[in-house]
Amino acid sequence: MCNVAREGNLLFQKKEEVEDNTDANMEGALIARDRVGVQDFVLLDSHTSETSFLNNLRKRYQENLIYTYIGTLLVSVNPYKELDIYTVTQMQLYRGVNFFELPPHLYAIADNAYRVMCSEYNNHFILISGESGAGKTEASKKILQYYAVTCPTTEQLQIVRDRLLLSNPVLEAFGNAKTLRNDNSSRFGKYMDIQFDFKGAPVGGHILSYLIEKSRVVHQNHGERNFHIFYQLLEGGDKDLLCWLGLERNPQKYAYLIQGRCAKVFSINDKNDWKIVRKAFSIIDFTEKDLEHLFGIVASVLHLGNIQFEEDSNGHAIIRNGTQIKWISKLLGVHLSILQEALTHRKIEARSEEVLSPLNVDLAFYARDAVAKAIYGRTFTWLVNKINGSLANKDSTRKTVIGLLDIYGFEVLDTNSFEQFCINYCNEKLQQLLIEMTLKAEQEEYELEGIEWEPIPYFNNKIICDLVEQKHKGIISILDEECLRPGEATDLSFLEKLEEKVGDHAHFVTRKLADQKTRKSIDWVDFRLLHYAGEVTYCAVGFLEKNNDLLYRNLKEVLCNSKNGIIRDCFLLSELDNRRRPETVATQFKNSLMSLIEILMSKEPSYVRCIKPNENKEPGKFDDFLIRHQVKYLGLMEHLRVRRAGFAYRRKYELFLQRYKSLCPATWPHWHGPAAEGVERLIKHIGYKPEEYKLGRTKIFIRFPKTLFATEDAFEF
Ligand code: ATP
Ligand code: MG
Repeated sequence: MCNVAREGNLLFQKKEEVEDNTDANMEGALIARDRVGVQDFVLLDSHTSETSFLNNLRKRYQENLIYTYIGTLLVSVNPYKELDIYTVTQMQLYRGVNFFELPPHLYAIADNAYRVMCSEYNNHFILISGESGAGKTEASKKILQYYAVTCPTTEQLQIVRDRLLLSNPVLEAFGNAKTLRNDNSSRFGKYMDIQFDFKGAPVGGHILSYLIEKSRVVHQNHGERNFHIFYQLLEGGDKDLLCWLGLERNPQKYAYLIQGRCAKVFSINDKNDWKIVRKAFSIIDFTEKDLEHLFGIVASVLHLGNIQFEEDSNGHAIIRNGTQIKWISKLLGVHLSILQEALTHRKIEARSEEVLSPLNVDLAFYARDAVAKAIYGRTFTWLVNKINGSLANKDSTRKTVIGLLDIYGFEVLDTNSFEQFCINYCNEKLQQLLIEMTLKAEQEEYELEGIEWEPIPYFNNKIICDLVEQKHKGIISILDEECLRPGEATDLSFLEKLEEKVGDHAHFVTRKLADQKTRKSIDWVDFRLLHYAGEVTYCAVGFLEKNNDLLYRNLKEVLCNSKNGIIRDCFLLSELDNRRRPETVATQFKNSLMSLIEILMSKEPSYVRCIKPNENKEPGKFDDFLIRHQVKYLGLMEHLRVRRAGFAYRRKYELFLQRYKSLCPATWPHWHGPAAEGVERLIKHIGYKPEEYKLGRTKIFIRFPKTLFATEDAFEF
């Protein structure tokens, strides 16, 4: 019997338990409960201790019950194996069914957001969070599939549905890679709005992408790979295509693909994935020309990586072998000699004159890598725009949306660089949003509404967000200031400034006190932050360069004049005229996160918290230590405490009355007095017990979902 059905039986068993309290029945239910735990942590008998929380999670995980609720929040533990709980039959089971009537599932979260959206005509988002490898991307794909299968559609809309689904393999091919923590790690952040018409049919979509990890294009750590697309193309591309691109099938031939020493990954079938991506391209409206240009760029990156420089007699860089550069010139449609010159020289402006200054070998390698990163990064943005074009719904009728947020998870590597700093900052922001929208907002609301409330303490990570992002005083500002002093500032001067300006911050471990605070000394090129999810030591080497993300002007000029349509779209001539200093990478990222938070704050939230059960991607292995740590930092215990003491549902008196007034003769068809009094009459009539609800200043608060479901059922009847 499948798990959901089995758990479903247990649920019915509990129902019977209430109706028929015979000893035998009670015993059966208790034994079953003992084995599979409770499906909502709120129902745990013992007080809200971390150990009982963990025991419940473990019991369920061992029974392949990977989902558990805390009220309406879903906790998910990565099973690292295929479970038969994602079938179309399962999807249909959850469709239109009240939240707590079936065992916890992603589909229940998806369905709930959808139903509220349809009935209240408002916008929603589902925030999926957790560390790298915890299962966020899989969850977001499963939710999308759920909508694709269960929402009403027409033949005309099938194409939208297919495009929404197939945007995933394309973006994953270009934006995901094997890391030590996850064989399919998202190396960019993604927020996707699914747009619905008034009938609840998905009619379009829009994707926002966040900071792709460009440095991976030119460098991978041991045991990691470059982005999937490179391996897919080499493995799956047919002979003619590879020949046209000047590529050999063997990834070992490419310098940008061999640094991690793991071109082949057991869990990844590059050849098959290539087929899926190719099919997706054709459905998402890519023309043959687009693809020619796109694969030309992918191949050019590989050729760039194989360019080697040597020193001439003056110490200047010259290109060692002419083959690669010829391929790049052909594929990017740029002039060979101009490209050659641009890779080995830098244009400098001196007294309104432009002078070409030769580069030394190190700088030439730097320029080469900068081009590879720039063309890959901008091509990724182009891809997202292209997909958005094909998902766009052009009719102007009002639509509602459900947004899915799947962003790279919190990450601690052996060596953490600028990328991890941005990723972890992003996770701080999302944690902050969750705190603001749940723990803080909820408790403040009780107070505001005059509901008796014993405050529940929680850790607010705003202090860490401020440390990173505050104007003038935050780490990003300090970094930006250093970037404004070219020639003078270095990564080390940045470190010194940090020590000077934020050295006494509670979440910055100053080198002087490192040993006392965390018992680990800090290397002289490192700085350490105490994130909400744990301490992370960052190596400052490369921070300035990555934040500046400069591309020499003459290289830009070459690209602006490219005959490759995508490159031309990505490098506009107007950029050359703009003499203003572009925003730094960290500041751009900070601004994009701020606007993301604004987008989310205007919508109704649902949350999925993903947990990674072990470090070895192993099915069935429940690593207590690792999971306890995540339960702690995700704030799940605080969430549970607020949930246990709080109310599952609240609505403004006017809205509540509007929806249910037909259930009471005194309020139907019109109630002329104040809404609060109308609601009081209404709930008296339908028989709410005093412990089931509280009346606030402007809202009614209902403690248990089952109370509301009973009202809903009566209403539907
Ligand atoms: P990152 O932050 O690195 O992108 P992530 O949280 O998005 O990580 P996923 O890529 O979703 O992690 O999951 C990692 C792997 O775990 C998947 O490739 C898959 O093998 C497995 N996995 C995750 N969720 C499930 C699931 N529900 N069922 C089966 N396997 C899963
Ligand atoms: Mg992911």
